[in-house]
Parts: sequence; structure tokens; C-alpha cells
Amino acid sequence: MTKSTIWHPFTQHALEAPMRRIVRTDGAHLVDEDGRAVLDAISSWWVVTHGHRHPKIMRAIQTAIDTHDQVIFAEFTHEQAETLASGLIELAPEGLKHVFYSDSGSTAVEAALKMALGFYYNQGRPRHRICVLEHSYHGDTIGTMSVGERGVFNLAYTPLLFEVERIPFPQPGAEQDSLDALEKICREGDVAAVLVEPLVLGAGGMRVYSSRVLSEMKRIAENSDTLVIADEVMTGWGRTGPLFACDAAGVRPDILCTSKGLTGGALALAATLCKAEVFDAHYSSDRKKTFFHSSSYTANPIACAAAVGNIQVWQSEPVEDRIANLTSSHRKSLARFANDDRFENVRQIGTIAAMDLKVSGDGYLAAVGPSLRRFFRARDLLIRPLGKVIYLMPPYCVTSDELDRAYDAIDEAAALVAAGKL
Ligand SMILES: *Cc1c(COP(=O)(O)O)cnc(C)c1O
Repeated sequence: MTKSTIWHPFTQHALEAPMRRIVRTDGAHLVDEDGRAVLDAISSWWVVTHGHRHPKIMRAIQTAIDTHDQVIFAEFTHEQAETLASGLIELAPEGLKHVFYSDSGSTAVEAALKMALGFYYNQGRPRHRICVLEHSYHGDTIGTMSVGERGVFNLAYTPLLFEVERIPFPQPGAEQDSLDALEKICREGDVAAVLVEPLVLGAGGMRVYSSRVLSEMKRIAENSDTLVIADEVMTGWGRTGPLFACDAAGVRPDILCTSKGLTGGALALAATLCKAEVFDAHYSSDRKKTFFHSSSYTANPIACAAAVGNIQVWQSEPVEDRIANLTSSHRKSLARFANDDRFENVRQIGTIAAMDLKVSGDGYLAAVGPSLRRFFRARDLLIRPLGKVIYLMPPYCVTSDELDRAYDAIDEAAALVAAGKL
């Protein structure tokens, strides 16, 4: 096999089939060079919300490139960033008053962590501990790996990662254990932030927990004057039903991270929103209290315009209805797997459906993962199981017939696995 010049993400090049070359994207599909349409059942890694190349978002980009490329965002501003910031503040959970731009989910989380530490440091009462949920994922930079789950992904880098506090995942039935653990850690003091993926842990295996736990976590944190950072990089923009997952729990985080669906999945952009107190702790005639953070492409005007286009889609089209339809299509299709002994933990939250294949081997490297992926690929379905966790997270424009095709293939794959043929 010739070695690829391009080093692809999360790819073992020694084992992988040649990359499929996509010549066009369209709605819920990727079209390859042979003209075959692949159903994008995971929204191209969770970024595409409405569908690929939504006309309003494409038009917003075309308009923006008539006047702008990148503009330095210190000393200067532009309409695209301003319109987007006011739109975000209007739509986000109440209490978030300031917007810091970056360019990916990881950088949004890094900025949030720095804001939290700066918040206490600048007030002369530094705090250093961060508390996270077991199985969390917040990105692949050194900082976000530190706050994420440790495992095969980061063994080589462990010596560089900083330590954080971890509470057990709030498994249904054992929620109180997690809350008690959080209470204990917060009571010990020095916790700058509780960082959570609200309601569903994505890369950690689509693990769902209740909105009651989320609001209890917020209450516990608040009691010890600890900031809550909601990493809504995956859950934002309707994935779990409401616009943000925090909305379902009535939780007002102190800091919120959004990326992926922010531009509808068209361009790289992220925003870290914070409440007034966090901004104010950095607001000073003392230059040492500056928020020392930037990315080169901070607030790229074209990306901001795409995000403004995305907000316009939410405001002018029946996006909620599409989400409701997709949610009910999932529910109907999942029903047939509920009492199926080939699966366990059949679950759904809004537009995300997931189930665990009952096979031996655990974790991301479960042997069945790559064979499932090949099976789906041969059927023109983009489905990438997380180990033995099979999930669907399609764009909202997917039809119920298209979704049925994905569920039929999952059924067929499970039969082959059960028969020892996959
Ligand atoms: C994808 C993801 C990130 C990282 O986003 P990137 O844009 O890949 O850096 C962070 N947090 C969550 C919850 C994610 O799903």
C-alpha cells in the first residue's frame, strides 16, 4: 500500500481502505467521484445541522466574500462579528453577556478554562482545580485532553497532561453517587470550574443523563461559588431537541462553549460565551488582568457571516418542526430494537439515537468497530460506531425513508455479528 501524503484524523493508515473522494455535498448526502451518494448519518462528525450547503448559509458566505477576508480582531471589529454576538446572546441561556471568538471546539474549551482561572486569579483568590465527568470528551489539544477521559487516545501524552477531579458518570439509578462526589470535591474548595457536556457525553459513547442531574450539578457548584462551564460544542443547535441542552434543564451556565453547529457546519468557528462577572474580572486599568488569548483566525468575517446565516435559518424556517419529526422518526425506528437481545442500552435524546451491540471487547478499539464501518461504507452509509456503540446523528433534513435505510442496515449488521460473520 502506498503511504498517504495526507495524514488523516483518527486514521490508522496502515489498516485503512483508500479515502473516498467526495466531489460534492448535498443535503443529507456526500457524493463521491463515482457519483454514489453516501447518506451522512453522523452529520460529518456532528457539524452539519440543517443539511449540507444550506442555501441561506451559502448565500451569506457569498455575500461576505464580496467585502471581507480575515481582519485582525484586536483594535478592529466588523459587522459580521457584531451581528453574530448579539444574536448569540439573544439565543443562548439567560445571563451570558459576552462572546469570545475562536475557531474550534477545542479552542472554545481552552478559552473557557482560561476564563475560569482568570476569573479567580484576577480577584486575588486563585483557584486551580477543575472537575469533570467520567467519560468526558472536550477536544484533542493538550489542555482539552487533560480534562477529557484518559485512555488509549492519550497514553503517549499522559506525562504532559494536568490532573483534574473526576466524578462518576451519573448512570440512571446511581445519580446520587455522582452528585455526592461533586458535593465533596466542591466542599474541599479550590475548584475553579465544573466542566460538563450537558445531558449527553458524545465521544465518550453517547451516554445520556437526566436534566435533573445537570441542574443539581449547577446548584452544587453555585453553593461553593464555583463556575459551571457547559461544553455545548456537540449538543448545541438543536441536537438534543432544544437549541441548547442547558435549556432543557433550565440551567444557566456561567460559561458556554459552542462550535460545530454554529455555522450550520459550513465553516470553522467557535464562540465562548460568559456571564458579566467573568468579563468584569478581566476588566481593569491594570493591564496584567487582560485576557491573554487569541487565535489567528479569531472571528473570521466569512465564518461569522455563515453563523449569522445559520441564525437566520433558525429564525425563518421550521427548524423545530424538523427536529420534532426527526425525533419521532428515531423513536419509531428504535422501538424495534428495544427488546432485541443483540443490543443493550437502546437510547435517544432528541435527534441522537444510540445503542450498544452486545459483543465482547470494550472501548473504542472494540474489534467489531472497523468491520461495522466497512459494512456501512459498502452500503453508502456514513456511520462510524464508537467501538460497539452504534449511533445515528443525521442532519435535520434527512427523510424518514433515508433514516429507515440506516436502521435496516444496522439490523442487518447486527444479524451478521450475531452469526459470527462480521
Ligand atoms: C467535538 C467536540 C469538541 C472539540 O471540537 P473540535 O472542533 O474538534 O476541536 C469539544 N467538545 C465536545 C463536546 C465535542 O463534541
